[in-house]
Amino acid sequence: MTPITPEQALAELYAGNRRFVTGVPRHPNQDADHRAVVADGQHPFAVIVGCSDSRLAAEIIFDRGLGDLFVVRTAGHTVGPEVLGSVEYAVTVLGTPLIVVLGHDSCGAVQAARESVRTRTAPAGHLGALVDAVAPSLLRAGREGVEDVNGIVDIHIAQTVEAMLARSAVLAELVSAGRCGVVGMSYRLSAGEVRTVAEVPAGATAATLPGPAPAADQAPTAVAG
Ligand SMILES: [Zn+2]
Repeated sequence: MTPITPEQALAELYAGNRRFVTGVPRHPNQDADHRAVVADGQHPFAVIVGCSDSRLAAEIIFDRGLGDLFVVRTAGHTVGPEVLGSVEYAVTVLGTPLIVVLGHDSCGAVQAARESVRTRTAPAGHLGALVDAVAPSLLRAGREGVEDVNGIVDIHIAQTVEAMLARSAVLAELVSAGRCGVVGMSYRLSAGEVRTVAEVPAGATAATLPGPAPAADQAPTAVAG
């Protein structure tokens, strides 16, 4: 069944990612019958606010299908008004219980922003908007003494989670009411696995974090209810 709580939704994402990582994807909800079912309406169980990187396709890395994930992607998962509006639509109109900010190691947008700041050169065209959006995370990394790019990415993911809640009263109210959770995840390009680097409310979803990889013939983690 479709997950209805943030915890169930997160468990389902981790179960799908486990299948993808271990090479036993089931490709659920990708058949013609399901396509016909969801044509009448959608109830995605997670919003993914991810980096646009071509190697970060949400339905593939979480082994999901049509109608499961409401996906918004920008380079470096930068969040502007259109992104916030899209996320608010999913959680208020569609009732989606979980928001995931999805970044990844070696993120080109983060590295480009870092280089731009380091060399004090403004990038051409609209790339400046990306640099501006990543800049607070670079400052925070500097304050915390974090210099490696993947450490900076983790900070940028956490910063994105906090920025969304700080800028959207709609999201903040839903989270404080327990109707929606926000999780920041980092994806490893080579291994294909995700891990949680931030979550609001803190600790609420800890019980769903993955254990050892399942055997190839083992059913994925079931979602209670
Ligand atoms: Zn990226």
